[in-house]
Formats: sequence, C-alpha cells, structure tokens
Amino acid sequence: MKGLYKISTGELDGLFAEIAREMRLYAPLRQGNELNFGLWGASVTVDLHGLKTDNTPKDLFLPQSEDLYSASLKGGDIKINPAEAEFAPFVVFGVKACDIKATAVLDNIFLKGDFVDHNYKLRRENALIVSLACNKPGMSCFCAAFNLDAAAPGGDIATWLCNEYLYLQAQNEKGEGFIKQFAHLLQEAEEGEIAPIQAEIREKIAALPYSELPLENFTPENMLKLFNHENWNILYKACLGCGICTYICPTCGCYDIRDFEAKCGEIQRFRCWDSCMYPDFTLMAHGNPRISQKERFRQRFMHKLAYHPEKFAEYGCVGCGRCVNKCPVSLNIVKIIKSLGGE
Ligand code: SF4
Ligand code: SF4
Repeated sequence: MKGLYKISTGELDGLFAEIAREMRLYAPLRQGNELNFGLWGASVTVDLHGLKTDNTPKDLFLPQSEDLYSASLKGGDIKINPAEAEFAPFVVFGVKACDIKATAVLDNIFLKGDFVDHNYKLRRENALIVSLACNKPGMSCFCAAFNLDAAAPGGDIATWLCNEYLYLQAQNEKGEGFIKQFAHLLQEAEEGEIAPIQAEIREKIAALPYSELPLENFTPENMLKLFNHENWNILYKACLGCGICTYICPTCGCYDIRDFEAKCGEIQRFRCWDSCMYPDFTLMAHGNPRISQKERFRQRFMHKLAYHPEKFAEYGCVGCGRCVNKCPVSLNIVKIIKSLGGE
C-alpha cells in the first residue's frame, strides 16, 4: 500500500493555487444550485462536499464541440489546415468512483476499440485524475450494482474527506510524482485514519434502494431475447427523444462530424456530441436505420447493457444516477434493468 498523506481542508486553497501555477486545474465548482467541473481560479468556489456534478469529466477528454480542420479552395487546389488544439498537462480534482470508471469505459471505446482517437488520447495522456470518495451518496446512486467501491475511488490519486482533513494516496507512478511535487504542503498520515470513513461510506451505499439490481439476464448470450423483449413496446412510449440522458451520461461517447461554410470558399469541419435518441443519428444516404423512437430508445439501453459488455466484458453504465435525476419523464436505466432483468 502506498503512503497516505493529509492536508487540512483550510489549507486546500493554498494547494490548489500551487497546482494552478504549474498546470490547469479543474475542480467541482459551486454556482448556486449547480455543481460543475470548471477551471480553478481565484474567484471560484470549490465544493468537495457536493455529490454529483451536473457535467462530467468526459467534457475534458471529449469536448462537446471541437474544430478538426478547415479546408479552402485556392486556384484549383484544396488547402487543409488542421485546427490548433492545446494538449497541455492538467489536473482534474474531485472525481467520484463512478466517473473514474466511466473514464475507463471511454478509454475502451476511444483507445482500445476499432481505432485510436488522436485528440482523446492526447488529452488522457495529459490528465492527472484525483478522485474523491463519496461521503454522502445519493438515493439515485447505484454504482454498487456494478461492483464499484465509492470508498476506494481510484484514479491517479485517491482522496478522502475526513475530520477536517483531505487524505491523499497515490494509486500509480503518475500519482506518486504528483504527491512528491506537492509534498511540502502535506503531512504524513496513518492508514487507519481513513478506515472509519470508508466503513461509513460502504454502509451508506449498501442501504441505497438501487444498490442491488437484477443484472443476471444482461449477458451476450441473452442478447436476442433482450432485443425482442415485449416490454420495450411499453417502456419507450414516454420517451421524448430529448437526448438529455445521453448528454449528461459520463459513458456516452457518440459524436457527429459536420461542416459549415466559414467564409466563401472555406469550410470548417468540427465534431460535436450526438445522441442515439435523435432521428438524424447515424443518418445515411438511404435514411435512418432506426426509424422509430422505440428502436432508438432500445439502442441506448442495449448498448449499455448488452453490446458494450459483449465487446469489452464490462457494462457501459457505471450507476452514476444522472439519468435517474435528469430525465424529464422519469425514464432511466434502472427502470429498464428492473423491467427486463426480472424474467
Ligand atoms: S429517456 Fe428521458 S432523457 Fe432520455 S431522451 Fe427519453 S425523455 Fe429524454
Ligand atoms: S446510463 Fe445513466 S446511470 Fe448509467 S452511466 Fe449513464 S447517466 Fe449514469
């Protein structure tokens, strides 16, 4: 086990200021009722006591929109100018266990799948992720159903808030280097100091309503049966096709590539998030392969619970519960698992 360190919560601003002198620092920032990962600066309010951020760390690795290149036509020649992207080291602080696992899910898609995504790869390589154990898990959390341990959140450095201290422990070499760099601000701590808070977190999580879900049926062998399940005919009906569930999901990585005419004779190519809930998603010359909302709705959940597991031997959902909180008509993956998993 690697060394455990601590810093009093009253001194955290000093630590953040030192980190920010070296590299960009993102942390959960409070603005009224909203909690979002944002760039640390002198006038922001970091809130490490909040539960789920509204946005997810996905935004830092796969921005909602990014320019790829521009192309212009001059004298019969096409000139391609790659977009200037900044790939510099950064720290993202306070990432919960579900979002840490979600990053591993995205890594499978963008780094270990059919191709390696250049921009995603460079952002991941430049990132140092500091996780944070969930002292107050919420009623919509179900990370435990996917065997995640919110009391041991992982990342490059894991942290715990306990008795007015933030405890830090490196999880790998990258994390060790970071701890060494800022060791002058930290005190050494004993392993036993975080044991009570870990036990408390695990007890709270075990008592949550969705910590156990009937996932046994969601196997690649059952895929056809799940696909043809009659309950989809009822489940999809309330879906508005708004796509909120995909935008706030830390593991949804679908995107579209689009062009617009920036000026006469020059196009700008960019990519932006897309949603399988939209009628023009995967639109091809012959039309859309999923012509009804039922098919689009089924696609989202089959992807998380059957297609992704078949390809990567892990679920594409991490139980963060954001879709439970945010769907305007209270449809979510928990309802799907309970409906299809019970038979
Ligand atoms: S499941 Fe809910 S959030 Fe997702 S598209 Fe349908 S209505 Fe919108
Ligand atoms: S499907 Fe819902 S609970 Fe699962 S990771 Fe996405 S937003 Fe979170």
